[in-house]
Amino acid sequence: MNFALKAIRAATASPLRRVTTTNIQRRTMHIQSIPMWTGSHDNYAYVVIDDKTKDAMVVDPANPPEVLPVLKELIDSGKINLKGIINTHHHRDHAGGNAETLKQYPHTPVIGGKDCDQVTTTPKHNETFKIGEGINVRAIHTPCHTQDSICYFLEDGEEKVVFTGDTLFIAGCGRFFEGTAEEMHEALNNRLAKLPEDTRVYPGHEYTKSNIKFGKSVLDTPAVRDLAQFCEENEETQGKFTIGDELKHNVFMRVEDPEIQKATGETDPLEVMQKLRDMKNNFRG
Ligand SMILES: [Zn+2]
Repeated sequence: MNFALKAIRAATASPLRRVTTTNIQRRTMHIQSIPMWTGSHDNYAYVVIDDKTKDAMVVDPANPPEVLPVLKELIDSGKINLKGIINTHHHRDHAGGNAETLKQYPHTPVIGGKDCDQVTTTPKHNETFKIGEGINVRAIHTPCHTQDSICYFLEDGEEKVVFTGDTLFIAGCGRFFEGTAEEMHEALNNRLAKLPEDTRVYPGHEYTKSNIKFGKSVLDTPAVRDLAQFCEENEETQGKFTIGDELKHNVFMRVEDPEIQKATGETDPLEVMQKLRDMKNNFRG
């Protein structure tokens, strides 16, 4: 055994080396929020990065002046390899930045619903794809706000997140522009409600403060009051709450709660869903 090899073996066996080994963090996906808050906007783009390969995709890069400088910095400094654009639905404040992003980064695949600008791939319901080596993505079709709405459930080891566009907001849901109460009930209370409870929610907009004001007007529980308090102290709520939390504080996910049935005057879950949406549309809190 030559000296160098002996030295390596000695180092490997030393207590110091063992301490170093236990300090290595387990690999997880990294999510960078890009608030797009210029003008009257209040929406989010997100960059999802696979730490090992640095492969990344950007979710709803709607406002290029705010998103492109962030992408440029990440790409030019070697922190990410941009592998795709993901869209949650076709509305301009989500898919409206695709063309400009593609001008900067041509040939980038656009994964989204059928009506999204420049879309190249529309995954089927429950179809999966990967970001880098570690992140598994599953498309969950949630037609209602738009018929091409898709939520994306991501898993990397123990970590789970869902990008919900304008289908599920923290403590709220999107308007039924292209769909029915039945479709939103299916989206929220069947498809999304069945995700693991520790899945963190990343919605398309920061609407939590006004959502929970409305929520409080129909449901008075500790979970609802806690979220209202959180909003008094925090401007951003994306990624801070889970599907398990939504099941407690989101009135649109509690259509069988007697208190909400009483507030809406309805008992059928679909009627409760429709009534809640109408009440929220007219709410001036
Ligand atoms: Zn929308």
